[in-house]
Amino acid sequence: MSDLVVVTGGAGFLGSNLCDRLLAMGRRVVALDDLSTGDEAHVSHLAANPNFELHRHDVTQVWPQRLEGPSRIFNLACPASPAYYQQHPVRTTLTSAIGMWRVLEAALHSGSRVLQGSTSEVYGDPEVHPQKESYHGLVNPIGPRSCYDEGKRVAEAMCFAYHRERGLPVRLVRIFNSYGPRLRAGDGRVVSNFIVQALQGEPLTLYGKGEQTRSFCYVDDTVDGLLRMMEADIEGPVNIGNPTEHTVQELAELVLRLTGSRSKIEYHPLPADDPRRRRPDITLASTKLGWVPRVSLEDGLRETIAHFRRQLGLADRLAA
Ligand code: NAD
Ligand code: UDP
Repeated sequence: MSDLVVVTGGAGFLGSNLCDRLLAMGRRVVALDDLSTGDEAHVSHLAANPNFELHRHDVTQVWPQRLEGPSRIFNLACPASPAYYQQHPVRTTLTSAIGMWRVLEAALHSGSRVLQGSTSEVYGDPEVHPQKESYHGLVNPIGPRSCYDEGKRVAEAMCFAYHRERGLPVRLVRIFNSYGPRLRAGDGRVVSNFIVQALQGEPLTLYGKGEQTRSFCYVDDTVDGLLRMMEADIEGPVNIGNPTEHTVQELAELVLRLTGSRSKIEYHPLPADDPRRRRPDITLASTKLGWVPRVSLEDGLRETIAHFRRQLGLADRLAA
């Protein structure tokens, strides 16, 4: 079996953290990334590593000819920030759908196993709480988030079509909100927005009344879940996320406390179709993968705040 692993979206937030872990495990890694929301700086520390290569490539295009057959492909290429993907709905739909098709065809050709990084967004604005993998979701197929939600749903369908019809080994994980170092300051997601705003003394932009909930999983835990799922003997889908649920108001207050910021909270209109509640049921992950998240929100936020302090050139000092 080849020790080569391909990570699409390998210069992104989750992808670059995954590349680090795979290299530490002794794998050779090729990251395929068009750098649309990723950053070369996320993998610049790997530039001299002979086991790592960043290949600038758009996954909607023909798979790179010279790439030798990997044994494993993690498919993470897709923008994940709602603020970003709602500005690029065509590109997002194509990246999920065509990108998935190209990955699956390449995997058939090289005999690779594919892990698809799906999302809790396939549950849409869920009526069932917490969300189990058996729930089929409530997605608005033509709403502003549908480019992402439906793109990921078609990618899931395609994985199982290739599995059923062609016998391709696939693994499906539904990732819930993850955060940590290498989120970009301008990414637009809530954790990076609040931390950067707090550190810069700007108002925290809270959408709606802050009553909507999310369950935030630290990146090291998420990456650990992806690695376990890739080697598991089930296709999934399996939820990977932290089951501790917080309102967005609670998150804002926690960020203010941990940064020691005097920023105010400023309330803005809630975007259309913003899911009201989200929390994973992780029974499957814990029983089938032996996976549970280890890092508390407070500890994970401290690490993430330290990362943004360094990135913004502020002293590496925490208030609490
Ligand atoms: P990210 O935006 O940091 O990473 C996505 C990466 O994919 C970027 O490096 C980007 O440049 C690259 N990319 C985008 N379109 C591409 C294309 N057409 N060709 C090649 N590369 C392309 O986001 P992330 O948070 O690291 O998310 C990674 C994956 O995990 C995504 O598929 C996302 O849907 C999924 N996911 C993430 C979360 C989360 O909370 N972080 C939650 C659910 C699912
Ligand atoms: N949100 C917010 N302020 C921001 C960014 C996001 O209040 O500056 C809210 C957003 O409306 C949503 C939650 O935080 O209810 C999580 O948003 P994010 O974009 O991080 O991801 P989502 O879970 O919506 O995909």
